[in-house]
Amino acid sequence: MKAVRLHAFNQMPVVDEVPEPALRGPLDVIVKIGGAGVCRTDLHIMEGQWDAAMHTPLPYILGHENAGWVHEIGSAVTNVAVGDTVILHPTPTCGLCHACRAGDDMHCINSEFPGLSRDGGMAEYLLTTARACIKLDPSTQPKDVAALADAGITAYHAVRKAIPLLYPGTTCVVIGAGGLGHIGIQCLAALTATRIIVVDSNPDALKLAEQLGADHTVVAGGRQVETVKELTGGGATVVLDFVAERGAENDGWEMTGEAGSYFVIGYGGELHIPTLDIITTERNIIGNIVGTYNDLAELMVLAEAGKVTLHTRTYPLDAAPEAFADLDAVRVRGRAILVP
Ligand SMILES: [Zn+2]
Ligand SMILES: [Zn+2]
Repeated sequence: MKAVRLHAFNQMPVVDEVPEPALRGPLDVIVKIGGAGVCRTDLHIMEGQWDAAMHTPLPYILGHENAGWVHEIGSAVTNVAVGDTVILHPTPTCGLCHACRAGDDMHCINSEFPGLSRDGGMAEYLLTTARACIKLDPSTQPKDVAALADAGITAYHAVRKAIPLLYPGTTCVVIGAGGLGHIGIQCLAALTATRIIVVDSNPDALKLAEQLGADHTVVAGGRQVETVKELTGGGATVVLDFVAERGAENDGWEMTGEAGSYFVIGYGGELHIPTLDIITTERNIIGNIVGTYNDLAELMVLAEAGKVTLHTRTYPLDAAPEAFADLDAVRVRGRAILVP
């Protein structure tokens, strides 16, 4: 089969001919890929940023945002059948550890991360497990939803955690209205009655944010912290920071009001905060990594009801290098999707 493999760091991945994956165990599932999302994390992997954490031997197949159709199942699989349309939780988990039993899939002690820790879904077929499969309505096109498997679940997970804080009368600031942010805005609009303020440096992204449910938009042109403080009477109840680098992380902390919560979702920057500031204002800093199986299942209910829609641009698998280059040069509106 064709597959997009990374052979060396700081080099463009290559479309190779490789053997198809085979079932290893009774709960394994092989999925025929219908769409694989191209993500900024792929660029970070290519730069070698994940190597220290993952130590994945090269070459291997990229692609951690996957949807398609069940192609083959192990002897003990009962929740999906060959031909079912599925979206995949990014980490096949063990189901037996403390975290799995609490539904906290991302902290499973025996999980894999296809596309990061082993071969991923930028290929014709992907090996996963029964626990990772979420069955979709057969009319759903995998290429339309694939990016919800990582970008979407990550945005939804943060919003889902913030819901108890976002009762009517509160304000939520969203920093960054790109791939994740534009999903986060739709989730906030669908699930809460909070007032939504969106901050981005790109006026076009802010126009889209207004259409998706933002109550106010603020151009990040130098006065964004003061503007948000004026709009919120001193700071927001919750700040969802989908950027968290290049200075956004300092803005996000400053925009968070007393007893408010600063959710770090994007990554790359560094925060230096006097501990005195943390105790006197009782502000919280909350980390977020992907999300749970149930988060993705709930998000698919919103997607199938038309309450969350993804803006996508598709590329054939052979054009993967072009898709990476377009993402790197910020030429992609919404999300780039590879279709084998
Ligand atoms: Zn991703
Ligand atoms: Zn587990």
